[in-house]
Amino acid sequence: MDDVKNTSFRNVLAEHGQRYTRQRDVIFSIVSKTSDHPTAEEIFLEARTLLPSISLATIYKNLDALISCGLAKKVNHTDGSRRYCCRADPHHHATCLSCGAVTDIPGTLGDTELSRVRNEAGDFEIVGYELELNGYCPKCKPHSIS
Ligand SMILES: [Zn+2]
Ligand SMILES: [Zn+2]
Repeated sequence: MDDVKNTSFRNVLAEHGQRYTRQRDVIFSIVSKTSDHPTAEEIFLEARTLLPSISLATIYKNLDALISCGLAKKVNHTDGSRRYCCRADPHHHATCLSCGAVTDIPGTLGDTELSRVRNEAGDFEIVGYELELNGYCPKCKPHSIS
C-alpha cells in the first residue's frame, strides 16, 4: 500500500473514531487488492500468513469496524455466505447463479430512477444504495443452441 493511500486510510479511521492498527491495514489491503469479494474465512487464511496469531473472530471484528467507517461493504451471496468488498467507487454487484462469482459492475442509477426510489422511500432518508444483480457469468452462460 502506498503512502498516500495509507494516509487516507488512517484519516478515514480517525474520522470515525477508530484506531489505526496493523490488523486493519492487513485486512483492508487483502480485500482491496482483489476483485474476488473474499469471505471472512478466505481473508483469515491470507491474513494469517502475515499475522500468524490473528483469529477469525478478530477478522470479523475488524471487518465490522471497516464497514462502520465505510471502508468495506458486505455483499450478500446467493449461497448465504457473506463476502466483502473494499472498492470505493460506486458499483453494483452481479452474482452468478451457477458458480457464485461476484462481479463488480461500475455505475450509478440515473436521476429519474433515483428520485422514484426516494419518493417510494417516503420518510426514509437514503444515503446510499447498490443493486444486487443475478445472472450467469461468461463462464457459466448457457450456450445458445443454434
Ligand atoms: Zn464490489
Ligand atoms: Zn459463473
